[in-house]
Amino acid sequence: MATTTSSFMFLKSPTSSPSPCHTRIGRSFKLIKAQSDVRKEHVVIVGGGIAGLATALSLHRLGVRSLVLEQSESLRTGGTSLTLFKNGWSVLDSIGVANYLRPQYLEIQGMVVKSEDGRELRAFNFKQEDQSQEVRAVERRVLLETLAAQLPPDSIQYSSRLARIEASPNGDTLLEFKDGSKLLAQIVIGCDGIRSPIAKWMGFAEPKYVGHCAFRGLASYSNGQPFEPRVNYIYGKGLRAGYVPVSPTKVYWFICFNSSSPGPKTTDSTMLKKQAKELVENWPPELLDIMDSTPDDTVIKTPLVDRWLWPAISPSVSAGRVVLVGDAWHPMTPNLGQGACCALEDSVVLAKKLAAAINSNDTSVEEAFESYGSERWPRVFPLTIRANLVGSVLQWDNSLVCSIRNNIVIPKLVKLGPLLEHTNFTSESL
Ligand SMILES: Cc1cc2nc3c(=O)[nH]c(=O)nc-3n(C[C@H](O)[C@H](O)[C@H](O)COP(=O)(O)OP(=O)(O)OC[C@H]3O[C@@H](n4cnc5c(N)ncnc54)[C@H](O)[C@@H]3O)c2cc1C
Repeated sequence: MATTTSSFMFLKSPTSSPSPCHTRIGRSFKLIKAQSDVRKEHVVIVGGGIAGLATALSLHRLGVRSLVLEQSESLRTGGTSLTLFKNGWSVLDSIGVANYLRPQYLEIQGMVVKSEDGRELRAFNFKQEDQSQEVRAVERRVLLETLAAQLPPDSIQYSSRLARIEASPNGDTLLEFKDGSKLLAQIVIGCDGIRSPIAKWMGFAEPKYVGHCAFRGLASYSNGQPFEPRVNYIYGKGLRAGYVPVSPTKVYWFICFNSSSPGPKTTDSTMLKKQAKELVENWPPELLDIMDSTPDDTVIKTPLVDRWLWPAISPSVSAGRVVLVGDAWHPMTPNLGQGACCALEDSVVLAKKLAAAINSNDTSVEEAFESYGSERWPRVFPLTIRANLVGSVLQWDNSLVCSIRNNIVIPKLVKLGPLLEHTNFTSESL
């Protein structure tokens, strides 16, 4: 239950300095009068996306109650789909939701790579490379709804857009929301995505645009979609596309294109679909058919960004009893399909350490967060770089380089096994 406080408190100002977290706390203290309506909460999760809901559910299964504060009026119902590999499924198994999702989504058997003229360059079978691999694309909306359905009632508070954050000398954190309401939290878990205000407050730099954007859409076939369950990639020059059968009636597609700037933010999805189709008008006809079967309102455009967590330069994942999870900490490009998978991994690792600290007096919360950062940094930093480099190679636009890629590298040199080694993560049941 939320409680209130009516005492005066000293709260520290945030600083944008990217120094290590334990020295990051602002130097100037200011006296603020805590309002009698300031609620107190123990564990607050800011952001009700994949990271936020998976962390809340992991904590719940370990006996720790948390409150998720989400800026939207409801769960994010838009969006297309996400491809989850065996590491993501292992986490979903461990938090008891995989079996709700598996029956709804096709198991993807392998992948096919084609050139823009439709020539097949190479085909791979996932199980032949790794018997334990599991690949399925899930609708983001359904993933979020499934996670939320397993949480106790009133675990998520909507229309709660974090506007300001301030540390207090006793280690609590004051959160102020757009509507002017305030909340004093003992522990804050920032799951607020790539533009995380919490990461900014902790001194992290803005994620960097990597030079290409993605269009995405979710095609709908009320009479059943006709495709085999495999990922299809089509590589052109500075332009690539892909499609994945998601379920018996839905097919996810994307187009990545080079652009020197992210361009204007457009929400007119009919216009976005038109722009996307123009990019691939002479590409294999099945791609255009899929785009034609896509309701306009599912089409979105996203400039791709990432942030490299350089040691000694990047701030620590935590500052006192405030910590980051998922994209808020390590935005990465989607070239390996690992952003959400890693957010899920983060959530179980963090929850185990935090629950152990809360449920016993052996470790402090601060130490639990540092231990989480030490365990996760060697995982997410190289993966962020790798995803970026893979994207750069796939977005090459030089004709000679693309010809070597399509005629030598992909048909003869690429080995899928080592390319998917990063999916080797397992999570025990919580
Ligand atoms: C084109 C593209 C394709 C992708 N494909 C894949 C894929 O196939 N597989 C994969 O694993 N990953 C994929 N990803 C990555 C994946 O989408 C992200 O890694 C994942 O969504 C991260 O989850 P998150 O919960 O950390 O952040 P988000 O999903 O962004 O959730 C953040 C939440 O915080 C809320 N929020 C933000 N600010 C505030 C605030 N001030 N106050 C309160 N709430 C706030 C937001 O409303 C949102 O609900 C892809 C990404 C892109 C761009």
